Amino acid sequence: MKVAAYEGIRNIRVQERAYPVISPTEAIVKVKYCGICGTDLHSFLVGRQNANGLVFGHEVVGTVVELGEKVKGSNIGDRVVVGPSGSCGECFYCLRGQTNLCLHGHERTIGLSPGVDGGMAEYVKVAYPENMLIKIPNAVSFEDAVLMDTITVAFHALRVSSFCAGDNVVVTGAGPIGLSVIEFAKISGARHITALQPSPVRRKMALEFGADASLNPREEKDLTNKIAAMYGGIGAEICFECVGTPEAFLTSLTLVRKSGQVVTLGSSRQPAGVLESQITGREIDIKGSRVYTREEIKMCLDFIAQGRFVTKNILSDIISLDDIVERGFKRLETDKTLLKVAIAP
Ligand SMILES: [Zn+2]
Ligand SMILES: [Zn+2]
Repeated sequence: MKVAAYEGIRNIRVQERAYPVISPTEAIVKVKYCGICGTDLHSFLVGRQNANGLVFGHEVVGTVVELGEKVKGSNIGDRVVVGPSGSCGECFYCLRGQTNLCLHGHERTIGLSPGVDGGMAEYVKVAYPENMLIKIPNAVSFEDAVLMDTITVAFHALRVSSFCAGDNVVVTGAGPIGLSVIEFAKISGARHITALQPSPVRRKMALEFGADASLNPREEKDLTNKIAAMYGGIGAEICFECVGTPEAFLTSLTLVRKSGQVVTLGSSRQPAGVLESQITGREIDIKGSRVYTREEIKMCLDFIAQGRFVTKNILSDIISLDDIVERGFKRLETDKTLLKVAIAP
């Protein structure tokens, strides 16, 4: 079967691999689409440790074509989302329903964990199908379902936040996740939403997704005062930080009112240099939001099935596996009009 394997910085190569062999507890999914995630792009551009030979791809939808005889809960022919991030179903966090924090989550996540190949391939082996296969409702297309990783990250952020209907909201970054946060905040009753985004194309998209204002943070001379003035002289109730840079994080702390909340969705490894007094003095609440739970994927699939969440143009393009570098990774690096690009192997 054909796969695209990571072989170092800026080096992903399409190659032949043996069709996977499964144990009685495993399954094989024929991949319909696999999204290229920001995480994959980051690895392509700056490298990923211990990942040589790994087949990337954790945003996978497809059809179950093989099932080990002990696997329960799925049938051959099921249309499925393969995900979320792996979970064991048995640890402290899984038993509390916080499968996104599973103690064994990373080592089980396809396309990210060394040795666990992902979906940039014709077929993908699923080692823990009972925790990782989620049936797609008939009313939801594969084209929408492949966006689950993106959409549900946004939905989870809203769910773990202190957001209340009527809140004024700032969203930093109008990429696929930021735009999804905007749409969820809108349908959840935000009073006013401001998107911060340098790219004019994405600023326009932010308005289409439900933002009431869309500003270029690089052009605003005094962003903090501008946002404060927009929101009663005190700032927003809540800021969803979807850029993932130290600068964006520091800025977000200044945009919320006293006792406001900053929800971080980024995973920068650069120190941000925040002063304790900035947090204490204004009693800012900082809340991390990490991926999503299995239940939340099901909820988001239902929202789409019911027409309550509309994916609009988040899926920008579908390309072939052979074009993965030229029309996938390289284009995503430079073309900010693209939101999500998926591969059809
Ligand atoms: Zn992802
Ligand atoms: Zn667990």
